[in-house]
Amino acid sequence: MNYAEVAVNSPGTRSTFSYAIPPGLSLDVGQAVWVPFGARVVQGIVVQLSEQPAVAEVKDIAGVISDFPPLSPVQIQVARWVSERYFCSLFDALALMLPPGFERRAVTYFQLKDSQVNASLLTPEQNQVLRFIGGRKRVGLPELEKTVGKAKARQITNQLLARQLITKTMEWGKAKLKPKTVPFVRLIASGEEVEVAKADLTRRRAHKQLQILEFLAERTQPVPVSELKKHLNCQSATIKGLESRHLVSVERVRIRRDPLARLSLTTFPPPVLTSSQQAAWELIQNVIARKSEQPGKPPVFLLFGVTGSGKTEIYLRALKEVVGAGKTGICLIPEIALTQQTVERFASRFPGRVAVLHSGLSPGEQFDEWRWIMEGNCDVVVGPRSALFAPLPNVGIIIIDEEHEWTYKQEDKSPRYHARDVAVKLAEFTDAIVILGSATPDVCSFYKAQQGEYHLIELKERITPRGYSPLPEVTVVDLREELRAGNTGLFSRTLLAAMKETLVQGEQVILFLNRRGAATFVRCRNCGFVFRCPRCSVALTYHSVEKRLICHRCHYSVSVSPTCPQCSRRHLRFLGIGTQRVEEEVRHFFPEARLLRWDRDVITRRYSHEEILKDFREHKADVLIGTQMIAKGLDLPQVTLAGIINADTGLNFPDFRSSERTFQLLCQVAGRAGRGVKAGKVIIQTYSPDNYVIQAAAKHDYLGFYYREIDYRRQYDYPPFSQLVRLVYSHTNEAICRREAERMRRLVLEQTAKDGITGFSIIGPVPAFAFRARGKYRWQLFFRGANPIRVLSQLSLSQGWTVDVDPVGMV
Ligand code: ADP
Ligand code: ZN
Repeated sequence: MNYAEVAVNSPGTRSTFSYAIPPGLSLDVGQAVWVPFGARVVQGIVVQLSEQPAVAEVKDIAGVISDFPPLSPVQIQVARWVSERYFCSLFDALALMLPPGFERRAVTYFQLKDSQVNASLLTPEQNQVLRFIGGRKRVGLPELEKTVGKAKARQITNQLLARQLITKTMEWGKAKLKPKTVPFVRLIASGEEVEVAKADLTRRRAHKQLQILEFLAERTQPVPVSELKKHLNCQSATIKGLESRHLVSVERVRIRRDPLARLSLTTFPPPVLTSSQQAAWELIQNVIARKSEQPGKPPVFLLFGVTGSGKTEIYLRALKEVVGAGKTGICLIPEIALTQQTVERFASRFPGRVAVLHSGLSPGEQFDEWRWIMEGNCDVVVGPRSALFAPLPNVGIIIIDEEHEWTYKQEDKSPRYHARDVAVKLAEFTDAIVILGSATPDVCSFYKAQQGEYHLIELKERITPRGYSPLPEVTVVDLREELRAGNTGLFSRTLLAAMKETLVQGEQVILFLNRRGAATFVRCRNCGFVFRCPRCSVALTYHSVEKRLICHRCHYSVSVSPTCPQCSRRHLRFLGIGTQRVEEEVRHFFPEARLLRWDRDVITRRYSHEEILKDFREHKADVLIGTQMIAKGLDLPQVTLAGIINADTGLNFPDFRSSERTFQLLCQVAGRAGRGVKAGKVIIQTYSPDNYVIQAAAKHDYLGFYYREIDYRRQYDYPPFSQLVRLVYSHTNEAICRREAERMRRLVLEQTAKDGITGFSIIGPVPAFAFRARGKYRWQLFFRGANPIRVLSQLSLSQGWTVDVDPVGMV
């Protein structure tokens, strides 16, 4: 093959480029290379080899970056899919899978040529640059740019190059991360030689050297120098002495910076599956058995089971089966910092065969894990969404725990992919099975299960130390009643009484505050009235800068009246309640109780998630106050009371997923109580006790919620009945921002009408929820339809637009 198609690392390029492979260079698909691109040399990935170039004029590949292709053909296949589906450059998609620390720059250096210079023929600027370069051995372009400015540096060096006064060399940036090696001492002398040496050393009273020799002779493996020094209290010079007599050799050995080495793992035999787990497992096995008879897409299972029903045990069982058959598995968990327990469980079940990959590891650890996985040393990779892109060969199973979690969607940067959807695709390419697990499945996932696209597997009971146990009892408290009874505090009388009882018993309480969207809508504390858009009926969002309420669907806006339009009282509440407020109030009522607050503020003060959790689990505090993080898969056996301060905060979020989101949060928090020896209790405080979301959550009734929700989605044509694409335009000038968004709407509507595309609509443009971010205004619109990506792919978007396919929310 003489030509290569290369995905280049240059923002905004969506296609690949053809390059010629210079003679003598052998390349594979997946190889990382340096290629000339415009005036620069950039990194690229070979995605295809061919006999013919795609275009007539091609440049040569400039060099190879690594000695092995960092990407496999399957990974390139996945990246192609990601790039098409999520509308990003192929390189961005490939970058998801590149080794940590891969990104490097090529730097151009200039050197003086020893030719006669007639200074008078040059401009003062040319002379200045020439003197600058002449003053040192060589000068890098970035350095020169700093001195004379970017444009000047390029312009003048080009002039000097043309006059052959300087020469140019290119140097690739060095790898930032490298394998770590440490020195080991190896005995190289034969048994006989050792005996001779020992006698000699004894005679010369070289005790230390003798000791070392004896120490090494007792071992079959080389010993790290550091261990030797520590153990025998010897010096480098002593080891050197032995080396110079050719008795030992010192060699550097690559070691793995192992992030799991910190954990003290206890291995115990896996529990015997309970009868419902066994039944669920047999269903899975049956489908897998039938799979080999009828080829086609590999199966996707939706394992639907309340928290604590033993889903993780099923994952482990399935992994064991797959690994036993010589394949490997990936297990995604929503947030690694909160799920150390899960990692430990996996690591102790597959000792020495588990790798973890996440951003909390040191760069060196990340690099080593990546190499270790790629070299085929591990069976199971555990991590957040990015772990899906680990270079794991031979994947046979992909598990996604808490599949409904939003953290599986990358929202903040391109590619804005959803790990669940990519996982299903990756599984198709590798013929792997997929298990999605959740107590509150994503409505779209559950719909797929209902349609027969996924296999629905249920686990109905909770396993606790008491055996099977029902879910905690839930009480719904109407907050409007509290105010009428003169209670203006955050806690209802019911919650206060329950807290008191729990604390007296020496048990633990968690208090959950839903902060998402807390400060965004305005509600009357007296009657529960919420300001809504008269046209769209969604809750209006309060913009504190403009001091106005704005509809995020149609851009209707209104100023806020001082009194409630429904009951005329001055009890309007704008701002959300913070965890600090909750803390103060707990202190007021229970001065003796030991409190722990868990929110972003606390975490940034270098008190880690793990430490907070550990302290609470060890009962160093009685009450844990927290936000969203509290809801995530924590095992807190001593908690017997969970209080939800305000359940309906999220309900008024102007988003088609706000009900789903609230339901999931409430169920998760409720699931935290009563996981231990004692039964638990949950109290939900709300202004809308009759809302179906609250009602269903109180009864742990997922299906009840699901059927209401799916009807709503069908009626208003939201996913899963349509697909959404969010387009955001940002600009420093608000008027331009708005005009561009409106222009886009008109353009697309004209285009779709002309092409006769039906079932397509546009929501917006409206100001984005974070209206001003990083000094820029942001306006957004949504494409909605059966195939909005088709519409999208016909657009050429100018700079300033970002695209989010399948956004997890609308605000
Ligand atoms: P989930 O993943 O659904 O939240 P887990 O797998 O974590 O549930 O199980 C909940 C608890 O029950 C855990 O403490 C686990 O150790 C225990 N458990 C799970 N399966 C069994 C079993 N077959 N026998 C005994 N205990 C089990
Ligand atoms: Zn009112």
